[in-house]
Amino acid sequence: MDRIFNFSAGPSMLPLPVLEKAQADLINYQGTGMSVMEMSHRSPAFEKIITDAEALLRQLMNIPDSYKVLFLQGGASTQFSAVPLNLLNKSHKADYVITGQFSKKAYQEAKKYGDIKLAASSEDKNNTYIPCLTSSDFREDADYVHICWNNTIFGTKWNYIPDTGSAPLVADMSSSILSEPVDVSKYGLIYAGAQKNIAPAGVTIVIVREDLIGCADPKIPVMLDYKTQADNGSMYNTPPCWSIYMAKLVFEYLLETGGLAERKKINEVKAAVLYDYLDSQDYYTAAAGKEYRSMMNVTFVTGNADLDKKFASEASAEGLVNLKGHRSVGGMRASIYNAMPIEGVEKLVCFMKKFAADNPKD
Ligand SMILES: *Cc1c(COP(=O)(O)O)cnc(C)c1O
Repeated sequence: MDRIFNFSAGPSMLPLPVLEKAQADLINYQGTGMSVMEMSHRSPAFEKIITDAEALLRQLMNIPDSYKVLFLQGGASTQFSAVPLNLLNKSHKADYVITGQFSKKAYQEAKKYGDIKLAASSEDKNNTYIPCLTSSDFREDADYVHICWNNTIFGTKWNYIPDTGSAPLVADMSSSILSEPVDVSKYGLIYAGAQKNIAPAGVTIVIVREDLIGCADPKIPVMLDYKTQADNGSMYNTPPCWSIYMAKLVFEYLLETGGLAERKKINEVKAAVLYDYLDSQDYYTAAAGKEYRSMMNVTFVTGNADLDKKFASEASAEGLVNLKGHRSVGGMRASIYNAMPIEGVEKLVCFMKKFAADNPKD
């Protein structure tokens, strides 16, 4: 069977050249006589993989030397706890912005650990927009401000970096990391689970400004303490070796294909194929407000739940899979991460046109 176009929100597609490289080295990695999956994390071969992975990510994202890069486990969701446990250490105050389901979960988790304020929320309009905020919306003495940069479920993305005054900005970038350049110096901490745009599930990347670590309450679980992880090169215990290896291959691939500036251009063209079509007709409606549209997750509805269902199932039969939207939005969601080729988006638009013609709404 040929490979199909997988529009899943995560785990999602990986670049074919990366899969082929992994396949070629699967059984005998560079003459070691074993697979990376079977290798000691203390072996020279794996030491090189994790060191290279960090160096490549630093180059790709232009990460300043004053930041640590950590390869952790537990998914982005574990960071919902790790961030407050590490960073709530001065005023014990933090401000959160809810723009979707993951930022809401992060807010609810943080509330267990300190004085957490909801600075703004877009729940009043089912998270179809991003609130417009200035430094006066945040507490001056907050230990940090938390946002979710790209809202995977609702298909919105911040179109500006909020001014948080003196409070460090923390961003969940799980579904947008590596899709475009990021000015890391504007953030105190960035985190992302791998399975959207980096690698298979397993590793979670944390990029954190050095001065923010090492001040956690001593009762913090040792595995969640960024200081433990930084001091041990992310190898306090066994790291998710395979996922880190695959991330390294993806970083190499992105650098070889022009880096993140080039990737952004490709992603803009790809997203425009879908949004331009959505804007040109009235059979489907784009769910997210125009200024806040995500380049990675495109949400749309027909306005009729039965038609939405029929759409997703007929699309699957055409090799366009996982287009069913999240239950909180309904309709459809096309996740078009880095690894989705433009051909997949073009084929989807062709299918959308045919489906609209074949299923008139009366
Ligand atoms: C997928 C996702 C999460 C959850 O990630 P896990 O690795 O499954 O914990 C959190 N935040 C965002 C923005 C996501 O897209």
